[in-house]
Amino acid sequence: MGMKDPPRDRPRLYLSSPTMHGDEQRFIQEAFDSNWIAPLGRNVDEFEREVAAYVGVPCAVALISGTAALHLAVKLAGAGPGDLVFCSDLTFAATVNPVSYEGGRQVFIDAERETWNMSPQALEAAFKKYDGSAPDRPRPKAVIAVSLYGTPAKFDELNAICDRHGVPLIEDAAESLSATYKGSQTGKLGRYGILSFNGNKIITTSGGGMLLTHDAASARKARFWATQARDPAPWYEHSELGYNYRMSNVLAGIGRGQLLHLEAHRARKQRIYQRYKQGLQGLPLVMNPCPDNTRPNHWLSCILLDADLSLTPEDLRLKLEEYNMEARPLWKPMHMQPFYQGHDFISQEGNVAADLFERGLCLPSDIKMTDAQQDEVISIIRGLLARG
Ligand SMILES: *Cc1c(COP(=O)(O)O)cnc(C)c1O
Repeated sequence: MGMKDPPRDRPRLYLSSPTMHGDEQRFIQEAFDSNWIAPLGRNVDEFEREVAAYVGVPCAVALISGTAALHLAVKLAGAGPGDLVFCSDLTFAATVNPVSYEGGRQVFIDAERETWNMSPQALEAAFKKYDGSAPDRPRPKAVIAVSLYGTPAKFDELNAICDRHGVPLIEDAAESLSATYKGSQTGKLGRYGILSFNGNKIITTSGGGMLLTHDAASARKARFWATQARDPAPWYEHSELGYNYRMSNVLAGIGRGQLLHLEAHRARKQRIYQRYKQGLQGLPLVMNPCPDNTRPNHWLSCILLDADLSLTPEDLRLKLEEYNMEARPLWKPMHMQPFYQGHDFISQEGNVAADLFERGLCLPSDIKMTDAQQDEVISIIRGLLARG
């Protein structure tokens, strides 16, 4: 396979890590020069304006994390104690946890093979089951759908179902900023959208997130909740429960600098995906989906091993780890998580999420990876799969 013994001290190759350019410093310096270090300030206002313009939504609210944005979206959708929310099953826990923050209950909707995202058929089946006809079958207050690894979900189908039932769709676009679905940016395709600027995402503020909405009233309400829910009064007056969720002006400066390089990051991620696809051709595997009518941002390149192999993704992961290369199983489905034991799981064509989890692996997709490094990853995978 042309690989020598793995040297002990080779630099770690990451799934996805922050890539800074220097422009970030310029915006941070502005914040320092104007003494606007404290929460809010010009960078926050401009970062919100710039992201809203990029995605094509009227309103954006910069927050401390994508999780905080999801929490406020769940509140805006009106999901409270005892309420049901239909959630993507194959995702990161942050997509679904905020429902529990509000005392609601998740029903998990299976993935489909075509996009790895929420299956419209399974969503339809969930609406049939939870039709309000009995106390244990209440109608849901919201649907939360993710675009996993930067591949957009089938939003036309999901929105049509949600509209028919009069239930708002919350779009978790934490992983998909700059991906498009039928020419539209992800993040604007539901009633509410959320982004993450966590360190591993396509652009980062070290930590941060954003809520995107189509109406100014929702944005105002989110800002109110995110700044301790202070009623208009000279003293601290509170008629609602508040949170300390706003992004700092310093971090928003990092975001403004990163945003200048978003398209370059996306192009680089796409090239990584295409090189994997080319390099792994002929092996018993497929890459994560790239459906017609969508332009994924290729945040992570993933493989799905054929079902009849004796070699497992874990064998591959451990081999790559020997070379100090980071690979990771796909997100473990929520209905398989101990914390969510006993929650309903709606599926239409077998357990797709569990099957993808068992056979899938995320590969190093860091945009600082050189072609030579990526060729090594490819060569290691070829070496194992050609034999096994
Ligand atoms: C990263 C991520 C989040 C959470 O974002 P944070 O900014 O880390 O809170 C939510 N959903 C998905 C799918 C994510 O990948």
